[in-house]
Amino acid sequence: MKADLKAGQGMTSERTRDRLVRQLRDEGIRDERVLQVMRQVPRHIFVDEALASRAYENTALPIGRSQTISQPYIVARMTEALLGDETLDTVLEVGTGSGYQTAVLAPLVRRVYTVERIAPLLEQAKQRFRLLKLRNIHPRHSDGGMGLPEFSPYDGIIVTAAPEGIPRSLVEQLRPGARMILPIGGARAQALVKVTRTAKGYDTEMLEPVNFVPLLGGVET
Ligand code: SAH
Repeated sequence: MKADLKAGQGMTSERTRDRLVRQLRDEGIRDERVLQVMRQVPRHIFVDEALASRAYENTALPIGRSQTISQPYIVARMTEALLGDETLDTVLEVGTGSGYQTAVLAPLVRRVYTVERIAPLLEQAKQRFRLLKLRNIHPRHSDGGMGLPEFSPYDGIIVTAAPEGIPRSLVEQLRPGARMILPIGGARAQALVKVTRTAKGYDTEMLEPVNFVPLLGGVET
């Protein structure tokens, strides 16, 4: 990977990033911790060089293997919803993809476990984490539909691919009181949902309509 932190001065300039952060504010992102990280994380590192000039647009972009890097607004929104007013210790992310959402979470929590089912995507993401010296990320090549029980319970779970319903095994890996942010639904209609684990089970709250790739089973090499 030829990713260069200083590549394309113009398109990755402070002004370009400030514009993105202004858009995020206009769209309702309020958490200053999240806005600051969104300004700092170099999104152009997480896309193909050919798309780097579009990296600070508020849109999803293709990352290969029919997958996408999420829209910055959605990354900010999910991160804000996950954090609430707290500081989280360990977080599980299902669907590493480009690694962008992971890199946004890493400075905000103590440790991020992230799982991806497509091996080459995970390898690229790992290179990016090394380049950015993000050392509190623990990536795994596995099917995240069952979570990652060995490091549970988590203080938060974020899922960046859509299952048809709320996966029970993921809820069970939340610490009581902890939240999971995930898209739910099929190809046509999905909602971003906040699931809070309670003593007896869980509560759900609908956040907004979204459009994610589906959560799939098994792993690919
Ligand atoms: N957070 C990513 C979004 C990537 S798209 C980013 O910011 O770039 C969602 C990712 O979820 C894809 O890479 C897809 O391969 C992965 N995925 C889908 N089902 C999965 C599963 N069961 N376990 C792990 N990863 C999965």
